[in-house]
Amino acid sequence: MKRTPLKRTGFKKRKAKLSVKDPWKKPRGKPLGHNPRRKKERRARYAKYMQSAEWKVIRIAAIERAGHQCEYTKANGESGIMRCPVRHYLTVHHKTYARFGGSELPEDLQVLCKPHHEEIEMLNHPTRHTNRKHAA
Ligand SMILES: [Zn+2]
Repeated sequence: MKRTPLKRTGFKKRKAKLSVKDPWKKPRGKPLGHNPRRKKERRARYAKYMQSAEWKVIRIAAIERAGHQCEYTKANGESGIMRCPVRHYLTVHHKTYARFGGSELPEDLQVLCKPHHEEIEMLNHPTRHTNRKHAA
């Protein structure tokens, strides 16, 4: 019986990649978890949904439920809770994205005026909004 030598292709190449000279040297390339393509896809999906008829219906229902008024509230001394009086430029905020895409429950959404929506978004995602040119 004739023996074939064990193939060890690729072995030397892999070994060579480990840097012996400087083990603390940062690995080249983008950090793990950074995937600009995925981010782009997610953004595109979001933008498409925001334009959809489905979202329009959900959005209008939420605004009607809120009585066409911003739902932002804040504690106001002894008199209790004060609600924002703004009734125009209303936006619908996603409190959770768990059911994003057409199956949102009424409690997943909050009707907010533009400044209050921005305030809440800044609180929730401070890093997401730091690159904006006209950040408030
Ligand atoms: Zn408001």
